[in-house]
Amino acid sequence: MRQIPFRTLIACFYLLVHSFARSLFGQSLEASMVKQGLVDVQQADPSILVNLKYTTTDNFVHKDVYGDLTKAYLQPMAALKLAAASRYLQAKHPDLRLLVYDAARPRTAQVKLWNALPDMPERQRRQYVADPREGSIHSYGCAVDLTVAAKDGTPLDMGTPFDYFGELAYPSREAKLLQTGKLTQTQLTNRQILRTAMLRAGFTRIEYEWWHFNALSRSRAKATYRIVE
Ligand SMILES: [Zn+2]
Repeated sequence: MRQIPFRTLIACFYLLVHSFARSLFGQSLEASMVKQGLVDVQQADPSILVNLKYTTTDNFVHKDVYGDLTKAYLQPMAALKLAAASRYLQAKHPDLRLLVYDAARPRTAQVKLWNALPDMPERQRRQYVADPREGSIHSYGCAVDLTVAAKDGTPLDMGTPFDYFGELAYPSREAKLLQTGKLTQTQLTNRQILRTAMLRAGFTRIEYEWWHFNALSRSRAKATYRIVE
């Protein structure tokens, strides 16, 4: 019989003890995020609202992929930018708030999301979910998904829900969607309120999702940070 190398045994033992300790002492994903240097966005600005969609079943995979994670974490640089966006928003619209749907995404959750669309060809899938082998900018704690809401948390009408996969959610098609009556002027104005605050704070937008903003490009995020575990 082939002998199992001693180092492999030690590694297995470590993993076993680690996961046992985590369940016993409640070493949560949140504690793990803090250990990895990420910050809670509500510490950067307590007026930011948070409703993590992947910690509920109200998401496109209809599964809770975050478990005990309920707070939104980002790299400190991205959290500061988000706080700036929140200030810009409230300076213009005192009754509105940023409402965060997703922020830093642990590697395990990225795998679950990728596997949730098995019937979609990989090329098409990449438009909506980053391949976990490459990591999403969310995986580096440098991207945020959000909308604008009233103070009580009621989101403004953006024309589609969060994680709607289709042209109606594409910022690049908005002029045409307005022309053809698929988006209303109010929906477009609401998206512009969000975008103006985020872009002023230094975020960039993407082509396919009105709710997604990057605090750093993929290459800079990869060069600067590790994937969040
Ligand atoms: Zn996103």
